[in-house]
Amino acid sequence: MDRLFAPDSAFQKNFFFLAKRFVPGETIESAIETVRALNAAGMTASLDFLGEDVLEREAAVKTRDAYVRMLDSIDASGVDSNVSVKLTAMGLLIDEDFAVDNLLHIMQRSAKNRDPFVRIDMEGSGVVDATLRVFERAYAQQRNVGVVFQSYLQRTAADVERVIALGARVRLCKGAYNEPPEIAYKKMPEIRENYLRLARELLARGNYPGIATHDRRLIEAVKVIAKTENVSSDRFEFQMLYGCRPHVQRDLVAQGYRMRIYVPFGTHWAGYFYRRVLERRENALFALSSMFSR
Ligand SMILES: Cc1cc2nc3c(=O)[nH]c(=O)nc-3n(C[C@H](O)[C@H](O)[C@H](O)COP(=O)(O)OP(=O)(O)OC[C@H]3O[C@@H](n4cnc5c(N)ncnc54)[C@H](O)[C@@H]3O)c2cc1C
Repeated sequence: MDRLFAPDSAFQKNFFFLAKRFVPGETIESAIETVRALNAAGMTASLDFLGEDVLEREAAVKTRDAYVRMLDSIDASGVDSNVSVKLTAMGLLIDEDFAVDNLLHIMQRSAKNRDPFVRIDMEGSGVVDATLRVFERAYAQQRNVGVVFQSYLQRTAADVERVIALGARVRLCKGAYNEPPEIAYKKMPEIRENYLRLARELLARGNYPGIATHDRRLIEAVKVIAKTENVSSDRFEFQMLYGCRPHVQRDLVAQGYRMRIYVPFGTHWAGYFYRRVLERRENALFALSSMFSR
């Protein structure tokens, strides 16, 4: 399976067209062009260099350097984008200190950009504690970093409180990993209910929350919360994944809301693509329909 998903495998080389709806390209140039088009449509972006679960220092340093080049390209091209980083790609599974150093290296380069912000994606529950430790250590040194919380985890309300107290920025999502019922809500109504409870706290007391969802019910409920809590549309942003519900993205922009699109790119697209397909039948259908529109 690992071999099948390796970037140089025949599968990866021949089947990128399937992933193309969700991953606009394998190169930084293609990612920048995508961001330029999103900017022209009134949206900002967060670029993610695909890759995760790195177990060799060399690979983590390579990814860190790819982020630095990406930040150089964002700066040079003038596009409006920040970056999202997975700590397991920065060596979190090898050594926490090493991951902190790599993250700070990226944050220092990012600090020179028009949008200096670096978002740490949240991964599976096995690394949530380590991710939060690394985040807090980096945040203590430099403020241009924020984290992600998943409403399917039962622990998240306490984590959100802690980060609200720090004054750091949070992206709120449902969560994309398969977590056990001992620690996670498994039913969609519970996950939604928790999402809205957390969104209310973040909107009322948080720092510029990112409301990451394609779920129309949640989007409408968040609009109502923002109104009742008197939170103007420039004090939070909606966030969606590249290729998911583009008409909803455009509608929200037309209604005067801020919209940031998460744009993954690179050759390690298989894991990301696999999560999108498992998540929704529509996503598999979108991918298949691209076979006929090539
Ligand atoms: C910007 C962003 C960043 C993210 N970062 C992380 C992260 O760091 N860690 C993490 O674990 N997860 C992350 N996620 C993924 C997230 O946790 C969910 O797995 C994912 O967003 C699916 O949940 P949802 O709320 O968007 O909608 P879903 O629960 O998938 O769907 C809800 C409803 O939305 C509609 N819908 C959704 N998608 C589509 C579609 N493609 N086509 C048609 N209708 C659709 C359907 O009506 C559906 O009933 C991120 C998501 C976004 C948007």
